[in-house]
Amino acid sequence: MRLTVRPTLALGLGIGLLAFAPTSTGDLRGFTAESAKAQRDWEAKFRAIPSPDSMRSYMRRLSARPHHVGSPYDKDNAEWLLARFKSFGLDARIETFDVLFPTPKERAVELVAPTRFVAKLQEPPIPGDPTSSQQAEQLPTYNAYSIDGDVTAPLVYVNYGVPADYERLERLGVSVKGAIVIARYFGSWRGIKPKVAAEHGAVGCIIYSDPRDDGYAQGEVYPQGPWRPKDGVQRGSVMDMPVYPGDPLTPGVGATKDAKRLPVSEAPTITKIPVLPISYGDAQPLLAALRGPVAPQEWRGALGITYRVGPGPARVHLKVKSDWSLKTLYDVIARVPGATAPDEWVIRGNHHDAWVNGAEDPISGLVPLLEEARAYGELVKQGWKPRRTIVYAAWDGEEPALLGSTEWAEAHADELVTKAVAYLNSDTNNRGYLDVGGSHSLEQFINDVARDIQDPETKLSVWKRAQLRAIADASDADGRKEARERANLRIDALGSGSDFTPFLQHVGVATLNLGFGGEGGGGIYHSIYDDFKWYTTFDDTSFVYGRALAQTVGTAVMRLADADIVPYQFTGFAETVSKYAKEVEKLATETRDKIDERNRQLDEGVFTATADPREPSVPPARDPAARRLNFAPLDDAVDGLTRAAERYERAFAKAQADGGAALAKPEAQALNATLRQSEGALLSASGLPRRPWYRHQIYAPGFYTGYGVKTLPGVREAIEQKNWSEADQQIAATAQALAAHTNAINRAAEQLEKLGS
Ligand SMILES: [Zn+2]
Repeated sequence: MRLTVRPTLALGLGIGLLAFAPTSTGDLRGFTAESAKAQRDWEAKFRAIPSPDSMRSYMRRLSARPHHVGSPYDKDNAEWLLARFKSFGLDARIETFDVLFPTPKERAVELVAPTRFVAKLQEPPIPGDPTSSQQAEQLPTYNAYSIDGDVTAPLVYVNYGVPADYERLERLGVSVKGAIVIARYFGSWRGIKPKVAAEHGAVGCIIYSDPRDDGYAQGEVYPQGPWRPKDGVQRGSVMDMPVYPGDPLTPGVGATKDAKRLPVSEAPTITKIPVLPISYGDAQPLLAALRGPVAPQEWRGALGITYRVGPGPARVHLKVKSDWSLKTLYDVIARVPGATAPDEWVIRGNHHDAWVNGAEDPISGLVPLLEEARAYGELVKQGWKPRRTIVYAAWDGEEPALLGSTEWAEAHADELVTKAVAYLNSDTNNRGYLDVGGSHSLEQFINDVARDIQDPETKLSVWKRAQLRAIADASDADGRKEARERANLRIDALGSGSDFTPFLQHVGVATLNLGFGGEGGGGIYHSIYDDFKWYTTFDDTSFVYGRALAQTVGTAVMRLADADIVPYQFTGFAETVSKYAKEVEKLATETRDKIDERNRQLDEGVFTATADPREPSVPPARDPAARRLNFAPLDDAVDGLTRAAERYERAFAKAQADGGAALAKPEAQALNATLRQSEGALLSASGLPRRPWYRHQIYAPGFYTGYGVKTLPGVREAIEQKNWSEADQQIAATAQALAAHTNAINRAAEQLEKLGS
């Protein structure tokens, strides 16, 4: 359910094989010279196998009918995937879970005053697009996990509906108390919009796609172009996933048949007010009926109206009623057993469920995964014996709430803690640049993989293409210099929005999320028009980027599965964390200065709330004076981490020198066991404030941004919320997690030093 085009790290190299394959040996991190040579051979064989034609035919089949959770074709696809994995020679099975997934029974949005208008809440079929007419099987347009409700109230336009928009409204003297808000998509993950609206006293929430962000202002609309047409609607979940994802009734445990369940009325992640999404065709009459202040400049969309804020005189009737029965999930899990370390797992996943036909989201990411699995089957027949077990997963129920991955990770948490080496995720794939997010202990590893994959468009490596883009996109000279000179391209930190979340942020498995993108336009996200016709007309039409993704992720999985020593690298992580620490320290200073300055202005009566002096303006309340925070524990922890990372790196270089025979000693197994615990050491048992399910102290989705990442989340969000005592506690908790991680690295360094001696 990725929201939009990912920001950036392009790495790619779809092998035009021999011309591109590096010929050196002994240069693979964690391999002896001898094992590296064998590895290079197997990888080259692997990269020749994934076929664009196979991917096209898989996509045609998997997206042929709507396949949301609980639909007949969702189960049918799972069984088809199971049969494919088995036909490739993999050991495969379906694991089921029973989860709360509401589907709509009644929906209404009507303008009842000053004029009448009934929203159609319906996406029409498009001639020439055969699957767009499968209305009987399509899930209606709605936001899953909206509470049932029937409200009539004045309407207020709240821009993107993020906290800053409500501060602006307050300064305009507009309250949403007792109102229905209408917010546009973008600016935050959608689930944040009803959450913040309810916190401000609204009784209902409508979310629409404005053509400024997602429609004709971006380009030609479907079917003439790829962008969202007038009646296109973005479905999607509005569950409060920053609290916890997965089944709302079984937080922290797998939703098995006999799991203990909360009553629906007590599930904390269901919205507090009813929500429905609408098209810009349906939104225009509602917005046009608003009066009150003209919307601030940057709030105005691309509809041919004067955007006003309200409240009223537009009055709107909003009704949502759902079927709240449990539905069954079908996770398809396939294995290639490890030959020497079967109890060490490398896990790779992409979801198979969609909101409707879902050719782009998620099938474009799933079909490379299938080709990777097929290629492994071939290699095993040719004699390849991966050292570790490879686990391939096609998750169900990602769209509603990361259901299939979360329930599976919760059900298998104990095993994952001891066995998992890494989790590699994808979720959709497009043309363009390789984007990578993940654990920074895998930053160097994935950069190395990307240097070995050829970009289909430029024939450069996907790494080189990414680097050129990073140089071009850098916002200043320092950024350009870094993109040119740093050995590795930085990978993004992960927030949420796909199936990696339970692995990284709940269980503590080192994680990567990968995909190509950035070249195409998209306006069919979560609509009936995300289908085979659209994808093969406007996106990766020849599936060459599908092949590049299979080559990239498949190579990464093989390398992680075969390395003598798991190729984590910690100096890059230490440098990144020290950057995050500087950021939160700067944020604390700036926040304190801002409070002091504003309080001074309020005291002197010179405060101006808005930039435009013509706007009506109500001065805000005074903030309590800010405290100076003591960051010494965090700084000390970062120093300790940096020293341990450097020590590990020195020991590693020594052990890998001269053919690296030390890496193949039997004692290396104990070292690998220590390494597997290193990411998990970054978790705190009690989790983040008010959301204990999220335990990672370095990466989390923002409580008020949704998918968007907050790094050092405990500290950063406490400062953002101006909660100074919580910031103190969180500095201590983060320092403690870093110290535990540092201990693990020092233990690993010691084991490595002994190996090399
Ligand atoms: Zn998806």
